[in-house]
Amino acid sequence: MFGARAASIPVMNPGLRYRGRFAPSPSGPLHFGSAVAAIASYLQAHSMGGEWLLRMEDLDQARTVAGASNAIIEGLKSLGLYWDGPVLYQSTRVTAYEEALGQLIHNDWAYPCGCTRKEVAGRPYSGTCRHGLPAGRKGRSLRLRTDAASYQFPDHIHGVQTQALEKDVGDFIIRRGDGVPAYHLAVVVDDAFQGITEIVRGSDLLDSTACHIHLQRALDYPQPAYAHLPVVTNAAGIKLSKQTGAKGVANDSPEDTWLRALSFLGQELPPIRHSTETIRDWAIAHWKLERVPRILSAR
Ligand code: GLU
Repeated sequence: MFGARAASIPVMNPGLRYRGRFAPSPSGPLHFGSAVAAIASYLQAHSMGGEWLLRMEDLDQARTVAGASNAIIEGLKSLGLYWDGPVLYQSTRVTAYEEALGQLIHNDWAYPCGCTRKEVAGRPYSGTCRHGLPAGRKGRSLRLRTDAASYQFPDHIHGVQTQALEKDVGDFIIRRGDGVPAYHLAVVVDDAFQGITEIVRGSDLLDSTACHIHLQRALDYPQPAYAHLPVVTNAAGIKLSKQTGAKGVANDSPEDTWLRALSFLGQELPPIRHSTETIRDWAIAHWKLERVPRILSAR
């Protein structure tokens, strides 16, 4: 639900230095859609005089492709996008996720769920295991209680958002049946660990934001600010991804990728274009988040 775009929405963590991030899932090389998210989050961070961190979301072994992290890193470097500090790999963070899960269980935020995926297909979760596992059932996943929570949060592109978590989503999974910490949990634990103050990412994750805010409250973490970018689609209106055969930007000219990304993001184009670095630095100086189209997706 979109509200009025408030250009003067305050940054959620006044006093903290701006820290943004790019958090790709290494399922393939950096394609144009992920390059747009990288460029926008980089420009927002640098135009605020802040830092920009890189995190590889490589927890899901089924989606992670060997060599994709390095291909993404090469793609970023070819665009002149250098990150601050070391790259954080989620596959190295399992102990931190387990600690957070332990805390949620201890505080009775989390409970074991014995439902199979097939049984709960379609949203929202009806709460079958909320008050204890039915007789004869074994716990498979862990869910977080949503307890009638409804959130309003400012999105710096789309305006104020309202999401009724319990009604629209229901208690959601924080550890999957195969034991892997769920995306929602890992992203929230890591954004807090990395001290991220604003999250600039694709609008395909707009609906996940209330789940993230709910987890931040349950874990007593600060709430970052949010800005959700239009997602790049193919001619059929489907988000570019490895699955839809999106090719990496590494073979294109980096200057062309920059210019395409800037125009996709509604930005002015630089008059001088003789190197990636001149385009990048001009784009930092002229970046305007308020020019980003307020739409969920575009070609
Ligand atoms: N890893 C997610 C993706 O590639 C992005 C997560 C996020 O930005 O919160 O779609």
